[in-house]
Amino acid sequence: MSCSLAAEIKQNMSKASAKAPTGFDRFGLDESIVRGIRAAGFKKPRSIQSETIPAGREGRDVLGLAQTGTGKTAAFALPLLDRIMYKHRRGTSVLVLAPTRELANQITEEIRQLARYTQIKVVTVFGGVPMKRQIDQLRRRPEIVVGCPGRVLDLLQQGRLHLAHIESLVIDEADHLFDMGFMPDVRQILDALPRKRQNLLFSATMPDEIRKLADDLLHDPQVVELSTSAPVSTIDHALIMIPEGCKRDLLEQLLAGDDCRSAIIFTRTKNRVRRLTEYLGKSGHRVAGIQGNLSQARRDQVMRGFRKHKFDILVATDIVARGIDVSGVSHVINFDVPNTPEAYTHRIGRTGRAELEGIAYTFVTRFDHGWLRATERMIGFKISRKKVDGFEPDFNEPRPYQHGGAPRGQWRGNRSRSGPAEGKGQSRWGRPPGPGGSRRRTR
Ligand code: AMP
Repeated sequence: MSCSLAAEIKQNMSKASAKAPTGFDRFGLDESIVRGIRAAGFKKPRSIQSETIPAGREGRDVLGLAQTGTGKTAAFALPLLDRIMYKHRRGTSVLVLAPTRELANQITEEIRQLARYTQIKVVTVFGGVPMKRQIDQLRRRPEIVVGCPGRVLDLLQQGRLHLAHIESLVIDEADHLFDMGFMPDVRQILDALPRKRQNLLFSATMPDEIRKLADDLLHDPQVVELSTSAPVSTIDHALIMIPEGCKRDLLEQLLAGDDCRSAIIFTRTKNRVRRLTEYLGKSGHRVAGIQGNLSQARRDQVMRGFRKHKFDILVATDIVARGIDVSGVSHVINFDVPNTPEAYTHRIGRTGRAELEGIAYTFVTRFDHGWLRATERMIGFKISRKKVDGFEPDFNEPRPYQHGGAPRGQWRGNRSRSGPAEGKGQSRWGRPPGPGGSRRRTR
């Protein structure tokens, strides 16, 4: 075959694949957005997308009851990108509020990916880093701003962020925003927005406060309900009953398994993240820790490193339990049980993403039974128990808490929902304090 003929065939083939139909064609999205979808490798819409995109494109409000991992970022991003494509804009027209910096970054990356063949600019704003760079970026009049409420409010109050032309507001992980104590900030931001606008609210759970917010905010919304509190079906999850003192040995054994390619390990406190990261590093693992005491630059560096597979293991507090999407995490290991039953679903949802299979193990000591009962009640079934040879529960294990913990078998019920920000949290289920004896729970 002549070189020119081969080149022509190749060119035609790549044109054909660039035009290959995707299940997204039916939504009538602008061609440049469809190209972005193809480039992202999405072949067919997820069910949240099938239901949200048409309503979102028409400018309707949306209430999405969905956990992360369902494809909800693209579900709101695609119709909003389409709506602002050719509009004459006077300023930022889409505001997305998210509870954590990591989630805000992740949303921005996904929107940028989908908008790569458009001129639309997206800027992220969050606290913990100097404002200057964010202010410079805002000067370039981005069409979309993604941010955490605290920093959005600061910038707004300093006159650096103008929200007078917002046409669509997205509140992502509303229940988590609430748990982190952000609702007063959110309400103040709402006051600064034009009254006439489209609202899209996403939440994995619907506590009363979020129901009230939805009532205040949404007009005749399209309700898309995907969430059950149960974990997604691609996750194979089990509990391992084990004494506190054997956790490290069991962890080593699981990490050495052939099927363990990449793992996120959750611990209860920042201190435990530090200690376990150090221990695993000394045992020769490629590991990094992430917790709320780290600088933003370090947190970004760790997340980037983990995404690029520079580390196989990430040890974390609940700061990364929600929303964070890293492909190829084969295992989630709850070294300590989470604070709340809801957090269980979020933590283990870090694996089994994008319809891949994932494995999640939770180490349960005899002092975690209150949590276990509450969790099984919430997800509606009994989680399977896995036995690992050489690791048996020890029913005579001494309570690992020295001071002030709840009396044996009794769980302090701090059910206040006015959740504090990271580092000041307290369990809804009143799990007793760790070995340091402090009642303050840190993530
Ligand atoms: P999210 O729930 O938005 O965090 O999305 C979870 C993951 O699914 C992200 O990595 C998305 O890029 C990916 N995703 C979203 N929609 C699709 C789709 N239609 N096909 C394949 N992957 C998708």
